[in-house]
Amino acid sequence: MKYALMILFSSSWLYANACQHHCFAHHTQASHFIYRNDGDLEAILYQVMALQTLPSNPVDVIVIDPGHGGKDKGCSGTSSIEKNITLELSKKLKQTIEEQLPEIKVILTRDRDKFVSLKSRASIANDNQADIFISVHCNYLRNAEYFRGSETFVLGRDEGNINSEITAARENSSVSLEESYKENYGGFDPLSPESYILFSMIQNLHLDNSILLASFTEEELVKSTSVQSKGVKQGAFVVLKETNMPSILVETGYLSNEKDEALLTTKKGQNAVVQGLFKGIIAYKQFVE
Ligand SMILES: [Zn+2]
Repeated sequence: MKYALMILFSSSWLYANACQHHCFAHHTQASHFIYRNDGDLEAILYQVMALQTLPSNPVDVIVIDPGHGGKDKGCSGTSSIEKNITLELSKKLKQTIEEQLPEIKVILTRDRDKFVSLKSRASIANDNQADIFISVHCNYLRNAEYFRGSETFVLGRDEGNINSEITAARENSSVSLEESYKENYGGFDPLSPESYILFSMIQNLHLDNSILLASFTEEELVKSTSVQSKGVKQGAFVVLKETNMPSILVETGYLSNEKDEALLTTKKGQNAVVQGLFKGIIAYKQFVE
């Protein structure tokens, strides 16, 4: 009952923020169990399991995942490389949480420039029984230099949203740098659309809390950076598929945009982004506790 109420609350909360989240809220309404009544077996199982589970653990352990690293550089701006920015932002976020909320344990999936497989990143979160997982990234869109702003993804399939698919494919492509990735990811091929169809039931159970965390994060990022949000979206991100707690992937800004690149590479700009991420966590923590 409590869970159902919370879902109603979060759904209406998303609608209340419809200017930013309209597309996502619409998609959520269409695919979410509380609205699904099509007799589909998976939907029914989903309903039953979701109603029996209340994934609202207090936030005691946070795993922050600096995207890319080592041979996986991520995307590049005119003078910056994603893997370096994600590491700087993640380290600053860890430090901020530890200073402000010393009771919380914060773990980074990497603390230096090294390659870590997507599966290992998720395993670090699962093995440490993290209460939330935040994967930090930078966006890039070819021939669209005017695109800017953050966007935060939860796991899901946003069919027809080409930009979400491009982003997910780009972020997932590091899988192909891993040895024997096809065995490690159950035949997953980042270049094959069929590989994106199946998602774990476990992550579905955390969908609402992931949406909450994503929404708070975007809201606070806008406040602290004064850059308009591109919203909360669903995407087929491998790293989110493998975790079993509320999980988000934050695209902090576009390295293909001059202003976003300046924001993400200056001390002042990075501090603003980190404050946004931190306040998003605080808002989520206060809500679920
Ligand atoms: Zn990335």
